Amino acid sequence: MNDETYMIRSSRLPELREKLEKLNRRATKLGMLPVRFEVGEAVFNSVNGIKGVQVVSIRIEGSAPVVAGWTFAGVIEFAGQGNLIKAYAGASVPERFRRTSNTCDHCGKERKRNSVILLRKGGDWKQIGNACVSDYVRSDDAVEALSVLSMLDEIRDCLNQKEDEEETECRGDGYSTVGFLAAVVATIEKEGWVPRSKAEERGVPATAERAAKRIEDGFSPTTENLEEATKALEWGKKIVVSSDYTNNVQVVCASSHCAFRNTGILASVIASYRASKDAAKEAAASGYLGKVGDKVAWDLTLRSRYVCNGVYGATTILSFLDSEGNVVVWKASGIKLSEDERGTIFAVKGTIKAHTDYKGTKQTLLTRCALTPQRFKTALAKRAQTSA
Ligand SMILES: [Zn+2]
Repeated sequence: MNDETYMIRSSRLPELREKLEKLNRRATKLGMLPVRFEVGEAVFNSVNGIKGVQVVSIRIEGSAPVVAGWTFAGVIEFAGQGNLIKAYAGASVPERFRRTSNTCDHCGKERKRNSVILLRKGGDWKQIGNACVSDYVRSDDAVEALSVLSMLDEIRDCLNQKEDEEETECRGDGYSTVGFLAAVVATIEKEGWVPRSKAEERGVPATAERAAKRIEDGFSPTTENLEEATKALEWGKKIVVSSDYTNNVQVVCASSHCAFRNTGILASVIASYRASKDAAKEAAASGYLGKVGDKVAWDLTLRSRYVCNGVYGATTILSFLDSEGNVVVWKASGIKLSEDERGTIFAVKGTIKAHTDYKGTKQTLLTRCALTPQRFKTALAKRAQTSA
């Protein structure tokens, strides 16, 4: 388990504390570090400004269990439309597990399993059915480790559960995918996009939580909400899978129904879809500048900085925009600039090396550049004036 942050009703704290204490007694038996949790300040949340609930943020932090040298690295959930990869404690799961079937590497039997456990020892990864884990690891502690994992799941479910059971007779199994996305669109329109990872920092509930609340309060989507939700779903189904995240997006979008525990992934689809549309707009706006060999001096805004580790060492790729939206790129080794410089306007002097096309975006490539950040220039100019 990584660092995870949730918002829950204050009234549910005692139940949660009890669960975590029980969990930690087992974790300690396994020689694991206890799961730590921090409770934030209570805040009053309301939708209409009058009726609402008191909520607190909870941060829980723990490590994955290790038994007989095997790390319990995560779970593959077979969601019907594909595999959802849920890694613990930031494990980077090999790509092949995105397409794996629900077999067990121990007994080799293909069964109707909802999930398998991912075990890792060094670079060796195995997927094992729950019933076979202790046999495979050859330790009874494996049963304890599994119970720790299932308790963690139980705690996550408890944290994700937004309504008290008594209040709703039937909680249902989840949401209609398109309906939930429509609620996300409406939520972002009102309150902006808040990913789960940023919710605590900003002291507000995540968009997924707010969308769920909206649905409970009797949300009915507008035509525009549904239209964007449908387009985002189509986009998600066809997304190019290049990471666990894009894999999970494709899987949740391919299904007509979304389980409560997967609403965080689903909510992010709208934000990612919008970002991809912005990227497409940007690609359309960018054209080639000048001629190859021209010496140029332009004011450019730094938009991103990547460091690429290749066979010849690290290369820094700086990507700029001019005031018309044209993309200009400079790649070199040993460029000293931090990520914080994004958004800074630089006076850039260099030579046009080439005109290239990167994933459909026209880019003007520069070489032998000198950068002067404009704000320092202004500061220097000011100082010169005052001392004169
Ligand atoms: Zn098995």
